[in-house]
Amino acid sequence: MLDVTRAGHRLYPLLSGLMLVLVSWATCIATLAVPFTAAQGAATRVPILVYHTVDESGNTYSITPRQLNQQCRWLVEHGYTTITLQQFWRAARGLADLPPNPVILTDDDGDPSAMKFDRILGRYGLVGNYFVNNVSPLTQPQIRWLAQRGSVEAHTVSHVALSGLDYEDQVAEIAENRVYLEEITGKPVRFLAWPYGDVNESAIEAAEAAGMVAAFALGGTTAGVDVVDPYTVPRITIFVDDDLATYAAKVTGS
Ligand SMILES: [Zn+2]
Repeated sequence: MLDVTRAGHRLYPLLSGLMLVLVSWATCIATLAVPFTAAQGAATRVPILVYHTVDESGNTYSITPRQLNQQCRWLVEHGYTTITLQQFWRAARGLADLPPNPVILTDDDGDPSAMKFDRILGRYGLVGNYFVNNVSPLTQPQIRWLAQRGSVEAHTVSHVALSGLDYEDQVAEIAENRVYLEEITGKPVRFLAWPYGDVNESAIEAAEAAGMVAAFALGGTTAGVDVVDPYTVPRITIFVDDDLATYAAKVTGS
């Protein structure tokens, strides 16, 4: 028969150690998981723009270097300030104000032209955020460079539509991507962009389990920092056919 008392004595140091780990972990998570509340008087909506490649391919999801230069110039001339996803998240938690006219520029998939994207943004003093898969052809030094210039975040290992996977595979796709990027950049990865904007309830639970505090969808609207579902934050895709007037309308939400 099991001696409960003695078993308890043996378990006690283990349990108290485990409790310490849990408490420090919970404290750490609590600082990230404060509910969304916008700071009073600050900007409350942010256009989060999605780019893919910068080239002359004419592909719907590409833009030319000339277009990107024009768009960056437009942002600067109209008083926009680029912010990182971390700054957006801090504002959403009520921990910081957003600057006037905030905008977030995101580049998905880790195409080699992400380096060109970064170079062009740099000319205008703008900051980019990069959602990178493990299968991205970007080299590790390039990913490190982008993380120093802006922010490198999760986009799954293999750029798969997550709703087609079971929960365990969804967790693996996100968690292994996170570890890959964190080992390269030495920085925490806490934000995810859903490949193809594809998401279901199970994928949201998987993202949470893999340590993501927010996830970014598509959806075509500006993102509110006060009333937003942290796992389906909307973004606005920029297309090759967007002229400057269309671009301006997307940024201003008009
Ligand atoms: Zn993608």
